[in-house]
Amino acid sequence: MKVIKGDKVIYKFTNEMKAIDSVNLKERFIVETNDCFFQQIKDENAVLDELNYDCLNPATGPIFVNGAKPGDILKIKIIDIEVEGKGVVMTFPGEGVLGDQATKTKLRVLPIEDNHAIFDRLRIPINPMIGVIGVAPKKEDGEWPTATPWKHGGNMDTTDIKIGSTLYLPVNQDGALLALGDCHAVMGDGEICFTGLEIPAKVTLEVDIIKNKTIKWPLIETEDAIMVNASGDDVDQAIYEASSQAVNHLKDGLNFEWEEAYMLASMTMNLKISQ
Ligand code: ZN
Repeated sequence: MKVIKGDKVIYKFTNEMKAIDSVNLKERFIVETNDCFFQQIKDENAVLDELNYDCLNPATGPIFVNGAKPGDILKIKIIDIEVEGKGVVMTFPGEGVLGDQATKTKLRVLPIEDNHAIFDRLRIPINPMIGVIGVAPKKEDGEWPTATPWKHGGNMDTTDIKIGSTLYLPVNQDGALLALGDCHAVMGDGEICFTGLEIPAKVTLEVDIIKNKTIKWPLIETEDAIMVNASGDDVDQAIYEASSQAVNHLKDGLNFEWEEAYMLASMTMNLKISQ
């Protein structure tokens, strides 16, 4: 299996990124990803003022998917996310949902043993996920730092981008130009203190395309749901966008009137906050 090393990374998704490698449709390959600090934190004595904050959220790639053309949908099957060793979790003053109460930086490095993160006397079952995964955005959508989510993917930070899930992204450039990083050994939806358990990973993927079909926002397919992952300046905007697209998918997919799709969504669709 082809292994794409983690030493070639991007910090922003642009329409004109240069690919560092290529893969074929239906080929399985491994992507080595760095943690969101580019492994600068080795232990709990790390001096945070000395970190290079210019290399946060590196995404390995971009990877050219042979055959992917603008106007297609890229289908990414997540076969495996292998994490080992130790992960980093920390608080920053002013950050997260309780930013007003978070007054100091605190860093913990948690070992992974037997698929559990060891947090003092607690053993937390790990559930590895990919934080940043995306493709070249549309030219008119501009450049997106790897720290933000948008229509091209990016830092979606959702627990559903995990082993066994399939992610669908719109192709906006020849070869799609896939890049990924920022895996978490475990994270709760909302990621309320600003980090998950940040860890390098070996991610096994398989890609395919759906010709001549477009989507506005990334879709995630898990065993029991199909999700629209929409983002916005605030949570209300994201909820509006996700709901609007979900109702459209139901309307078009089931050949319903819009009102019927809206009713169906109200009875069967769940709203969920990722980040
Ligand atoms: Zn992260």
